Amino acid sequence: MEAPLQQLHSKVWEAQGIALWVKREDLLHPTISGNKWRKLKYNLQEAKRLQHDTLLTFGGAYSNHIAAVAAAGQEFDFKTIGIIRGEKHLPLNPTLSFAASAGMELYYISREAYRQKSDPVYLTQLAGQFGDPYIIPEGGTNALAVKGCTEIVSDIPIDYDYICCASGTGGTLAGIIAGLGGEKQVLGFPALKGGEFLREEIEQLVDRYNGQHYHNWQLITDYHFGGYAKVKLELLDFIRSFQQEHSLPLEPVYTGKMFYGLVDLIQKGYFPRGSRIVAVHTGGLQGNAGFEERLGIAL
Ligand SMILES: *Cc1c(COP(=O)(O)O)cnc(C)c1O
Repeated sequence: MEAPLQQLHSKVWEAQGIALWVKREDLLHPTISGNKWRKLKYNLQEAKRLQHDTLLTFGGAYSNHIAAVAAAGQEFDFKTIGIIRGEKHLPLNPTLSFAASAGMELYYISREAYRQKSDPVYLTQLAGQFGDPYIIPEGGTNALAVKGCTEIVSDIPIDYDYICCASGTGGTLAGIIAGLGGEKQVLGFPALKGGEFLREEIEQLVDRYNGQHYHNWQLITDYHFGGYAKVKLELLDFIRSFQQEHSLPLEPVYTGKMFYGLVDLIQKGYFPRGSRIVAVHTGGLQGNAGFEERLGIAL
């Protein structure tokens, strides 16, 4: 499995002497997408080592992580249980329908109950209810996920100055930061509103991974487009034209926002002439079918 580097060409950056590559983590695996594969890899090994036969995790109804855990369970021979936030809607949306077809058992809990998703008492109760599963947090973020995400940067075969990545829980960014060990500049693009809360979260994740504190990274919080899974016409238009120009599939929750933000920063002169930038495509394309269905549009 590999994630090739694809160079993107455009006058927008080349006129400023900037070179841009995409690290195609979306091509790592056909169904365990992008960063979710990185985050699951060592968790799956740990679950096997501890002899669990079931994986249990949490997510919203369109969650890339839910789809990835369902696919990983099928491929690596675990039963899978998905605790889904909110009510059941039939027919299942494309994400949950995929998860169910990969054998995942879906349980729906209220938004209030969902807030307990990291409460140790609640997790112990779930473990009792479901026969001692290996529990993976929402979004897959834990110390083993951070370890897996350090590998995003260990196989980039070119020299570069900046690396950009979309961010949800911050696990992927924490892995990139830890993997680089203080080298280069890391820019994280939060998909959620109020992304500043992530700063502390990421510092803690890095600290727990290797006890280090790095200063070569920043959060660019201006490109959340209203928050998680909110859709703006301007963003959809950008995604459509970027996809066409570069033959690069994007989605509106994470990678579309990151590329929009990156191109905007380039246009505003954020990067010095001669900068070499790697943008990480974290995958998530499975979510597009649900978007298209929900909004009645084609991406
Ligand atoms: C889950 C996801 C992210 C966010 O990763 P975190 O580790 O939670 O920050 C980014 N991009 C895509 C496509 C994702 O599916």
